[in-house]
Amino acid sequence: MSEVSGSELNALLARVPAVEKVVASAAARPLVEQYGRTQVVDAVRAALDALRRSLQAGASGTAPPADEAQIVASAASTLAARSQSRLRTVFNLTGTVLHTNLGRALLPDEAVRAVIDTMTRPANLEFDLATGRRGDRDDLIDDLICELTGAEAATVVNNNAAAVLLTLSALASKKEVIVSRGELVEIGGAFRIPDIMSRAGAKLREVGTTNRTHLKDYEDAIDPRTALLMKVHCSNYAIHGFTKSVALDELAPLARARGVPVAVDLGSGTLVDLAQWGLPGEPTVRQTVEAGADLVTFSGDKLLGGPQAGLIVGNAELIRKIKKHPLKRALRVGKLTLAALEPVLQLYRAPELLRERLTTLRLLTRPMADMQAAADRLRPVVHQALGDTFNVTSEPMFSQIGSGALPVDQLPSYGLVVRAATGKRNGRMLMKLEKALRELPRPVIGRIADDALRLDLRCLEAADEAAFAAQFVAQFAKQETELRA
Ligand SMILES: *Cc1c(COP(=O)(O)O)cnc(C)c1O
Repeated sequence: MSEVSGSELNALLARVPAVEKVVASAAARPLVEQYGRTQVVDAVRAALDALRRSLQAGASGTAPPADEAQIVASAASTLAARSQSRLRTVFNLTGTVLHTNLGRALLPDEAVRAVIDTMTRPANLEFDLATGRRGDRDDLIDDLICELTGAEAATVVNNNAAAVLLTLSALASKKEVIVSRGELVEIGGAFRIPDIMSRAGAKLREVGTTNRTHLKDYEDAIDPRTALLMKVHCSNYAIHGFTKSVALDELAPLARARGVPVAVDLGSGTLVDLAQWGLPGEPTVRQTVEAGADLVTFSGDKLLGGPQAGLIVGNAELIRKIKKHPLKRALRVGKLTLAALEPVLQLYRAPELLRERLTTLRLLTRPMADMQAAADRLRPVVHQALGDTFNVTSEPMFSQIGSGALPVDQLPSYGLVVRAATGKRNGRMLMKLEKALRELPRPVIGRIADDALRLDLRCLEAADEAAFAAQFVAQFAKQETELRA
């Protein structure tokens, strides 16, 4: 590149337009309308600074400085990139339906509409329409929860971790809680029963062993310091072999005889028997209440299929105590959560329609033929977009429910499997491809396993399939040459 002399450089710099002139130009007007003057001034200034630096570095040689339209275009792309939301929607092709890192349950339309209404209009969140006095936000929903679970009373907090923390804080502070050593769970994201216990000011009294706990272990441990017996759902692991745990219907009579309540952290918690749809069976909240739990805590956004929330149901007197604890105020749910939760719970009143209407259940029970047909439709599209450097096949695979629900059970599923056409450098090419998929405007999240990139189509419903295919064709073909390198 030819050297630019000092005087030539000065002449070039002198032709760089002033910020004000660019911002006032006709080309910049739509930007000012969209982003406001302040942001446009900053972006234009940054574009002009970059231009000056490149002139000084001689990068532009003796070419004349960019005109206003080019500066505006550069500012526009900066502003567009900066204003893109960091929280993006993605295609979840991981095969994990309730993927905690991808936001768990998807809300059904009824819930979405209710959230929009409640977001944009005032609502009787804590206003009793019957009396015109102050109300309690739990009143909006506790009858419905009780109807669906058979519990006497209910309350709702931010998530199930909060439900457990609040329950322990309200009922067991400075006292002991008896838990089996086989149930001292850690859930991903730093929820550990022993830690929650100490945060709540309760003392954990471990009984039994990792693999075997007997009723007598609980019996021997109960003393005047005992506030609570607690059972925790082994959400993300299973102990096999020589094992014994005490079922709730065995533990509850002991607890009752000794005057100590039993709390059950069900984790996912389901309101209906999933076995009727061929899914692995889980104790429902109602069964848990009927088996004698005084309190049951569970998540709103796992199998229940609603918004992030923690539900606490059970004995009215205990729920009253829990609601009076100061942490309840700190952990309470917002109106958007309640707006979404109520219509989701309403769906459970029509169990025969649930499979179609509750998104989570619809995905979990998606017919194999549906997924296979989608795979057969998409395979040529994806193959063509990726080019001949990759083989794309449609194959059966296994999905997971996710979120610690039924962890050891896998659901037969169908999807696309991508491998490098020549076995050589397969691993590196797949990693590049996986990254390129994540960088698409609507990122595609798959998973690499057994030397292949697997795109499980369970969670790609018909409504999204065309968008998925169109993005592949439009965006991905561009990157093909790069991927091959
Ligand atoms: C998932 C889970 C939790 C935490 O629930 P969040 O709603 O994620 O806070 C607590 N306990 C068990 C047993 C769980 O499975």
